[in-house]
Amino acid sequence: MQIRFMGAARTVTGSCYIVEANGHRFAVDCGMHQGNAEIEKRNWDIDVYEPNAIDFFLITHAHIDHSGLLPRLVKKGFRGPIYTTPPTKDLLEVMLLDSAHIQEMEALWKSRKRARHGERRLEALYTQKDAEMTFPLFKTVSYNKPFPPFPGLEVCFRDAGHILGAAMIELWIEENGNKAKLVFSGDVGRPAQLLVEDPSIENTADFLFMESTYGNRDHKNEADSLDELAEAIAYSYKNREKVVIPAFALERTQEIIYSLHILNKNGRLPVDMPVFLDSPLAIKATEIFRRYTDYLDKNTRAMLKSGENPLDLPQLHFTQTTQESMAINTMNGPAVVISASGMADAGRIKHHLRHNLWREGASIVFVGFQAQGTTGRKIVDGAETVRIFSEEIAIKAKIFTINGFSAHAGQSQLMEWLGNFRTRNMQVFLIHGEISSQQALADMIKKRFNFPVFIPDYLEEVTLKPGEELQMVEYPEKAAPRIDWGYILGDLDAGLAQLRARQAQIEAKAWVEQTDIRDKVLELNRGLMKTISEI
Ligand SMILES: [Zn+2]
Ligand SMILES: [Zn+2]
Repeated sequence: MQIRFMGAARTVTGSCYIVEANGHRFAVDCGMHQGNAEIEKRNWDIDVYEPNAIDFFLITHAHIDHSGLLPRLVKKGFRGPIYTTPPTKDLLEVMLLDSAHIQEMEALWKSRKRARHGERRLEALYTQKDAEMTFPLFKTVSYNKPFPPFPGLEVCFRDAGHILGAAMIELWIEENGNKAKLVFSGDVGRPAQLLVEDPSIENTADFLFMESTYGNRDHKNEADSLDELAEAIAYSYKNREKVVIPAFALERTQEIIYSLHILNKNGRLPVDMPVFLDSPLAIKATEIFRRYTDYLDKNTRAMLKSGENPLDLPQLHFTQTTQESMAINTMNGPAVVISASGMADAGRIKHHLRHNLWREGASIVFVGFQAQGTTGRKIVDGAETVRIFSEEIAIKAKIFTINGFSAHAGQSQLMEWLGNFRTRNMQVFLIHGEISSQQALADMIKKRFNFPVFIPDYLEEVTLKPGEELQMVEYPEKAAPRIDWGYILGDLDAGLAQLRARQAQIEAKAWVEQTDIRDKVLELNRGLMKTISEI
């Protein structure tokens, strides 16, 4: 049996693991790669997936970094079944259409820019039509009901306690008379999360593929998080400015509404501070949450039964249209604005950040993980300015990072979950995490449980045989192509030398022309200083 790591290997996005066994080839998850331009190139390099040769997909949950590349694979020829839970299917039908719309808009925007430079237009990564062609392939499966996609393979989805309908996936693979159990943790939820149940306990596995997003830290607790949210609200209310919350449309948004519902009940949300849910996607997701009450936790079900709706509050306004969304930014006075995307890289949130980041007294509240290379990460890491819509925006608003809302287990919760396994010689693969976080967790696992731990890289292949030593094949030239710093910096030196050699020519120009050149050089210098300060 062979596994190939197609993504979320030493990164948190692009989850996809292709398994080959018994002459079949299938994959767990099909996530989009998100981050900087270099990471996102992987979305286009689709041949490495060999979409025609994949028999079926098992999808853990509806987050785009686990499912967002499905329409791309369908566009390139995949036609097999896609197994997932009923809520995940419904959520994906909304999420993938939205993602396709973003892809189309981005391609259009870039094409227009390229046309102005006389270059050819770009195609979208995938279109809404590709997304729609994906929907008939879904086959729904319930939690805790094993099923056999082919003889010699049994699959069981279990509640991951992460977002509505999210699953961990157990696989029993029989090959040449040997049976091995694989467990893919998916994203492991944080125990005691609002809305969903705690993650299922797993006891046995020969090979465990475990997420490690928060492998090096714990979350603050929920009560602190509520206090911090209340603090941001009080701060911007006093300054008559806005609280802007970039949030994933799915789960996080519903948890924020739930939290605002609690704050409102406790008198900590001013009655004259409207709350805008400015995301058509989040509005649709909220409706799906209301439909699948069976998949919510006991507390929430009890609340709903008693007639209290934790997904509502009197100040809440849904803004569907672009006009309504734009009106929020021309409106004076304090307000809470929840908008997507969660890492501030796409969607309406970019407009809200452009209008509020530079305003003293405003608050920007980050409630989710910010991947390397995203606008959100830059702001959280303390950048003084960020580029939004080709404009450098100063950051004067107060930045809050509240990670108690996380839908991921923190370090000690991951360790506790792992502590339930009883299989000796279990081999652990850490996936879905940044390398620093994975190394910290790997050290801890080896010390406490004595399990062998592996941290696979992008496109790495591994042959699995229970009880035998692993054979790994790495492709470092693809996973991390060498960057020739000597060449790049030499080029910069040569450019500077040429500029200096032309000093006399510059001085011979008219004064007005010289000021033009001066400004261009100063601009270059500022860029250079900014880059140096970020290293
Ligand atoms: Zn997730
Ligand atoms: Zn994830």
